Amino acid sequence: MSLSSPPGPPGKRVAPLADGYRETPLWWDDTTFPTVEESPLPGTADVVVVGAGFTGLAAAARLASHGKHVIVVDAGALGEGASGRNAGMVHAGVRRDLAFLERKYGDAGRALHHASVEAYAFVAKTAATAAPDAMYAQTGWLHLAHRRSRMKGLRREEAERRQRLGESTVMLEQAALESEAPCRGFYGGMLTDNGASIHPARYLAGLARLSITNGAAVHPHTRVRSIESLGTGSRVHTSHGDITAGDVLVATNGYTDAAAPWARRRIIPIGSYIIATEPLGDARAAGVSPQHRMMSDTRNFLHYWRLSPDGRLLFGGRTSFAPVSVQTARDRLYSAMIGIYPQLAGVRVSHAWTGNVGFTFDQLPHLTRSDGVTYAMGYCGSGIALGSWMGTLAGEWIARGARPAFSDLRFPRLPFYRGHPWFLPLVGVYYSWLDRL
Ligand SMILES: Cc1cc2nc3c(=O)[nH]c(=O)nc-3n(C[C@H](O)[C@H](O)[C@H](O)COP(=O)(O)OP(=O)(O)OC[C@H]3O[C@@H](n4cnc5c(N)ncnc54)[C@H](O)[C@@H]3O)c2cc1C
Repeated sequence: MSLSSPPGPPGKRVAPLADGYRETPLWWDDTTFPTVEESPLPGTADVVVVGAGFTGLAAAARLASHGKHVIVVDAGALGEGASGRNAGMVHAGVRRDLAFLERKYGDAGRALHHASVEAYAFVAKTAATAAPDAMYAQTGWLHLAHRRSRMKGLRREEAERRQRLGESTVMLEQAALESEAPCRGFYGGMLTDNGASIHPARYLAGLARLSITNGAAVHPHTRVRSIESLGTGSRVHTSHGDITAGDVLVATNGYTDAAAPWARRRIIPIGSYIIATEPLGDARAAGVSPQHRMMSDTRNFLHYWRLSPDGRLLFGGRTSFAPVSVQTARDRLYSAMIGIYPQLAGVRVSHAWTGNVGFTFDQLPHLTRSDGVTYAMGYCGSGIALGSWMGTLAGEWIARGARPAFSDLRFPRLPFYRGHPWFLPLVGVYYSWLDRL
């Protein structure tokens, strides 16, 4: 495969669909979530956790292990939030590097960075004990430059990761990509051991089992309508009755709704989309990703991809900052995938789906408290590790008063923003201009 000629904009293609094609996450096909008996909500609890994704369930597991009476409520079924919909690419770090965090936030910034490193290790440990069927594998991560101009930034990042953070990291020039990513359109990349693959829904099911075993009660299909402050504690009004609780943790990330208006003004939900191909077979899979790396590119409209455990290519991206249908996004992703891997032309798509990523105005995650309610969210697309660990830290804070050093970082908002991101199409125009530079 020639590496020297980046493709022009991929032509528009309509994705060929496999028999049994469906618009639900691939992961749901082979995950069994614990069955939870329908039972009436108790009137009181030590802690109510709103949201049963990685954040909420990791928090519940930790809180219950400290003997707290914990109720987890979720508006949907287990796995319906982003935690059951993501690409299963685990990485450490936040979107700002350590130098930036130190300069801007001092000790709190350093603490946030360290938390993000601990978060990565936490997933490996937790998956091994609570979800061995989630097939966690330390595969490494390859970040590819879609423009020659992006190599400079990648080189800087590579040096920082290697020298300051002790990661095993190397820069690959274009000619060296063949053995790693036999695909078109990239000028080189940064390869780091700091990347892993996981089956996210099975990992989530493992966290659910762990929290239930530790003593938490999980109530799916229970929507919180509002949270009323009582001065000491809160009353949580849900679709199935009210619960009075000493503490409330809001862990709703990209699905935050009017029940949590304080968070809604600070979280920007952005749709991300994924397609999965039919199984490629060993030879073709090896021709796509010989080392089974997690891969992404340097676009703002980024693409990310990996092989699934059964040898499909999972290919995801943002496709647009304006909401689009799954069918439109699927065809755009297919075109982009064929632009990168022309050898896959004609391979059929078996699954296409979408989910909400929770972004923040400072591109940082936040674990903080306002009006007696604790909030953990804003992982900007890296919530497998960050969500699991922020949830755990939230549990420690609520149960034992262990306040994280970064919890008083300001959680910024935009004036007049109330949860409907009217500005995203404009941001999209700006980002696609940047992507061409
Ligand atoms: C397509 C896609 C691909 C992604 N890929 C990756 C990846 O490869 N690696 C990575 O690290 N991250 C990835 N992410 C991000 C990651 O999935 C999220 O950051 C993470 O799952 C967030 O977990 P959470 O528990 O905070 O929120 P969620 O898992 O989104 O859970 C929030 C829950 O809150 C519930 N909720 C909301 N409002 C209410 C209410 N009023 N009452 C009751 N319940 C409520 C929702 O029903 C939902 O279940 C991806 C996200 C998407 C959408």
